[in-house]
Amino acid sequence: FNEVPTGFPVPGKTTIYDKSKTIDLDNVDLEGGFLIKTLVLSIDPYMRGKMREPGKKSYSPPYNKGEPLDNFGVGVVLRSDTPDVTPGDHYYGIFPFQEYDIRKNTDGLRKLTNEHNIPWSVFVGTLGMPGKTAWFAWQEFAHPEKDDVVFVSGGAGPVGSLVIQLAKADGLKVIASAGSEQKVAFLKELGADVAFNYKTTDTAEVLEKEGPINIYWDNVGGPTLEAALEAATVEARFIECGMISGYNSGGAPVKNIFQVIGKQIKMSGFIVGNPKLVAKYEERFYQEVPPKVAKGEIKLREDRSIGLESAGQAILDVQVGNNNGKKVIIVAKE
Ligand code: NDP
Repeated sequence: FNEVPTGFPVPGKTTIYDKSKTIDLDNVDLEGGFLIKTLVLSIDPYMRGKMREPGKKSYSPPYNKGEPLDNFGVGVVLRSDTPDVTPGDHYYGIFPFQEYDIRKNTDGLRKLTNEHNIPWSVFVGTLGMPGKTAWFAWQEFAHPEKDDVVFVSGGAGPVGSLVIQLAKADGLKVIASAGSEQKVAFLKELGADVAFNYKTTDTAEVLEKEGPINIYWDNVGGPTLEAALEAATVEARFIECGMISGYNSGGAPVKNIFQVIGKQIKMSGFIVGNPKLVAKYEERFYQEVPPKVAKGEIKLREDRSIGLESAGQAILDVQVGNNNGKKVIIVAKE
């Protein structure tokens, strides 16, 4: 991480690919820890929020200038001096943006089992943080009822695409939006009853025709949230997951927020790492979701970049919407 961006993060300026540090894999002293090789790293929208000055508080700590970025990843153990950690084991957790790392212990890491032979990259997407986001919060906050209509913005990413499928599994009418024709085609493949490109079609008009909406899954905030507030029923549930339309401009104002009162809307903001949500849902998530992914009952789309040197561009692509599915960096093969 090189410098705090003023708008969109600029590859080679905000972040720099630095090849100068090397380690001797065979001889480096593990000091009781273990050597892990990074296989895949996730690129997520919230990384932009970590690119801020150190004094500014938020739910996740800022990146430190001059130090590697970090985010969710999967790695394989190469050598170990740690009891219960064996070469060949795979771990999921927060990884530095490095090809290798020496960890002191497994704190914060989850050992992965993969009896269905799902690609490891999926464990940072539908089977990782974004998938948990959709799965935990849908169960906690949606309270679907027969004949409900749900609107999902940002529908083509790993969060939105799972939300659409969960809502369809609950028998709801799903309206979904995304920012390109290719993404709209994917929304239809996922089962959305109404799918539209918010850049070429007016969201308010669609919601007026196809609504009113009982549930809004918000990934974007801003003008889309305004339209959803207008189209909401009394006592609608708004699941406030993300507001990416404001991530690179210091926020996205919402002019008609007062609708929350008159319509008695229940707005639930949440962070997926909330310990209560994790305790309630995480183990069941890892039991129930991987078999469905393996059988193709849950669909997903991945957008792969190869090599750590592609990270800066990948981060920008996700902020702009140039990713086509869950953005991952394939750092190395097994
Ligand atoms: P995506 O892979 O969907 O990537 C983000 C997408 O946002 C882009 O591809 C782009 O798609 C869309 N976008 C960018 N700018 C705008 C804009 N101005 N208006 C509308 N859409 C825009 O991301 P994820 O599925 O990983 O995440 C979706 C949301 O969920 C994000 O807001 C993220 O911050 C949030 N999130 C929240 C969590 C929580 O704990 N609360 C945890 C994980 C994610 P398009 O082409 O459609 O514009």
